[in-house]
Amino acid sequence: MKEQLMGKFAELFGGDGDIRAYFAPGRVNLIGEHTDYNGGHVFPCALTIGTYAIARKRQDQKLCFYSMNFEQLGIVESGLDELTYGKEAGWTNYPKGVIWAFRSKGFSIEQGFDLLLYGNIPNGSGLSSSASVEVVTGVILKDLYGFDDVSMTQIALYGQYSENKFNGVNCGIMDQFAIAMGKKDHAIFLDTSDLAYEYAPVKLENARIVIACSNKKRGLGDSKYNERRSQCEAALADIQKVKKIEALGELTEAEFEEVKGAISDPVCRRRARHAVYENQRTIRAVEALKANDIEQFGALMNASHVSLRDDYEVTGIELDTLAEAAWEAEGVIGSRMTGAGFGGCTVSIVQNDKTDAFIEEVGGRYLKEIGYAADFYVVDIGDGAGKLEN
Ligand code: ADP
Ligand code: MG
Repeated sequence: MKEQLMGKFAELFGGDGDIRAYFAPGRVNLIGEHTDYNGGHVFPCALTIGTYAIARKRQDQKLCFYSMNFEQLGIVESGLDELTYGKEAGWTNYPKGVIWAFRSKGFSIEQGFDLLLYGNIPNGSGLSSSASVEVVTGVILKDLYGFDDVSMTQIALYGQYSENKFNGVNCGIMDQFAIAMGKKDHAIFLDTSDLAYEYAPVKLENARIVIACSNKKRGLGDSKYNERRSQCEAALADIQKVKKIEALGELTEAEFEEVKGAISDPVCRRRARHAVYENQRTIRAVEALKANDIEQFGALMNASHVSLRDDYEVTGIELDTLAEAAWEAEGVIGSRMTGAGFGGCTVSIVQNDKTDAFIEEVGGRYLKEIGYAADFYVVDIGDGAGKLEN
């Protein structure tokens, strides 16, 4: 892969000088959805698929960007003095946003760079290709400009900052953190209230992780996402009138049941119930995994989907069809929507020898009921972002 991309880079930008290669994975969240902006826990892992990048520092102030996933745009040129969001700048808003974020945190970047990207994760499907582009850009900046003191956690935070403030997507820290900090064959049990984390081995032995992409266009997804955030904030504000807490993630189920009457709006009450119960499910799921109780882990994944469907209302017919078909398929340990919802993907744990039948059956039912095909990926858990050495 690297050799091919180096060749393409040379073709586009010339092959001289110090050309370097990098990779940032995509991610899938196994459980803990819509908890990351509620001070709760998440349990994502990095994948072995993601975004490859080739880069070389320039002598001038130009930024020259090319993505093999957006070839029709050709080389998109910009300058270090033009770091503002522009709709017409398309995908280049992501790397630009990260440069902007580093600069606004006080890092000096006075020379531009040439950048080639190639991603082998689907775009806009919930495997966080945007965070993958952000984190790979952060890794490039650290390496090309010698920001040796910047940690991977900081790169994740700057990536999130750029997505929030430059691209206007109000995402939590989970995606960038998982992509920056991932570890092969492990998922990351992350407490989003203080970024304390722990790696938990995901030993599936006779099973695989299968991702099903609904191929539903997300449409109004971003605005609904922001609406869910506001509903959680409203619920928290109501609870704070009767109990001293800073985030919904601090509550146990029993504590929530005691104070839920303070939440005036019934919709906000359901949203908060999901946030609280999902956080507790995530804690229990990690305990189950550590105890090698994969059946229990799967049952909690299923319960997570039901809560996202009924209380949080972010699934929709497409993700519900994929999950319900999975629950009925043979050899499925657990299945749920993953990512923000409103389209995107499900994640399932499926017995090794049943994955082909799973894809055929769930895929067949989805096509029949929804009218277009889903895409399936049998994935492995990989390491976080970094430079690709020779
Ligand atoms: P997700 O993060 O779930 O994949 P988003 O809509 O947040 O979906 O991000 C997708 C966007 O990220 C793409 O439309 C594009 O702008 C950018 N992007 C992702 N991967 C690449 C890539 N390989 N090359 C260029 N841009 C990319
Ligand atoms: Mg994204």
